Amino acid sequence: PFKPAQRLSAIGVSEILKVTGLAAQMKREGQNVIILGAGEPDFDTPEPIKDAAARAMRDGATKYTALDGSPELKAAIRAKFKRDNGLDFAQDEITVSAGAKQVLFNAMMATLDPGDEVIIPTPFWVTYADIVAIAGGTPVLVPCSEANGFRLSPEDLARAITPRTRWLMLNSPSNPSGAAYSEHQYRPILDVLLKHPSVWLMVDDIYEHIIYDGFRFVTPVAIEPALRNRTLTVNGVSKAYAMTGWRIGYGAGPSALIKAMAVVQSQSTSCPSSISQAAAIEALTGPQDVIADRCRSFQQRRDLVVDALNSIEGISCRVPEGAFYTFASCAGLIGKTTPDGRVVEDDTVFADYLLRAAGVAVVPGSAFGLAPYFRISYATSAAELRDACQRIAAAAARLL
Ligand code: PLP
Repeated sequence: PFKPAQRLSAIGVSEILKVTGLAAQMKREGQNVIILGAGEPDFDTPEPIKDAAARAMRDGATKYTALDGSPELKAAIRAKFKRDNGLDFAQDEITVSAGAKQVLFNAMMATLDPGDEVIIPTPFWVTYADIVAIAGGTPVLVPCSEANGFRLSPEDLARAITPRTRWLMLNSPSNPSGAAYSEHQYRPILDVLLKHPSVWLMVDDIYEHIIYDGFRFVTPVAIEPALRNRTLTVNGVSKAYAMTGWRIGYGAGPSALIKAMAVVQSQSTSCPSSISQAAAIEALTGPQDVIADRCRSFQQRRDLVVDALNSIEGISCRVPEGAFYTFASCAGLIGKTTPDGRVVEDDTVFADYLLRAAGVAVVPGSAFGLAPYFRISYATSAAELRDACQRIAAAAARLL
């Protein structure tokens, strides 16, 4: 019989997959289901990027490239950091992988020993904890309250640090909360890190360009250069350029770390796709106006969803600064009873009720480590979002 490796024992089937799997099955069976679980923009990759890929293919860019990214793509990434973040990185401080996810994976595999701790502010992208666990480390989850905008407080960070802490992981704007850190909100957290020189910082900036209301995005190394020699800044083309399927993510950090990450990559996937790398060069160096156009569209949809949710009794929703998710509280509905007599004990029951009774698939907050909330991805059409919010309102009103 099949026996999975011990290292998989800490990893459960993600609640996101459970909900979206059931929703997809209901849809196949002909039920009218709206799935608000997508982790990707609903837009297509811009044409000039596709053209660059086609050209590269025809010109023979069909072979292995340098292991952790072609020199041309690394140069484009360095130029991006200069242009968008005012940061100068050297060529050997850049790594390219099959998505930001692989950058994170390489970093944890390259640095964690059994018992090493990684601090993860909660709610968090589930992948963080799972990657840490696969790499043999111990995720240390630190709850971040809605009252503090789902941001980590410096006091909680200081309390969580132990002699075994290797990394702090930060994600701004955040999946699932959409919360982002401004420069002055980052400052006290970076000050705590300055007092603990053995703790490294991993920042996931993948939603950098999806921000609203004139929010000014900053990345920690630009705020505090003294952290540069122990920070891995992670980013990618998936979200900003609607390129999730192309699988290109990148990281910038100290060359010794980057080199160790290349060792992990060399014996797993080798170089990322040569064709996708050519497309990523066009994405990073070509016209950038498509980003702002799409942000405007996301912002309209964010406003639509936040307003609709906040008008439902028992549900409240903070206005997120970025990404394409809302993380709404359903605290006011916990303890009520569904028409068929089931008690809504927690957000998992609530999400299950919404799916079965209203045909709307959302992900319960507990899947991201914080209850009672639910995440809506608004990377779908305004018409569908309006319909979904009406269904949620009607379903909530039927609870007794
Ligand atoms: N980081 C966060 C916070 C995400 O939500 C996602 C995708 O959902 C990623 C990274 C993964 O990006 P990539 O497609 O580059 O692997």
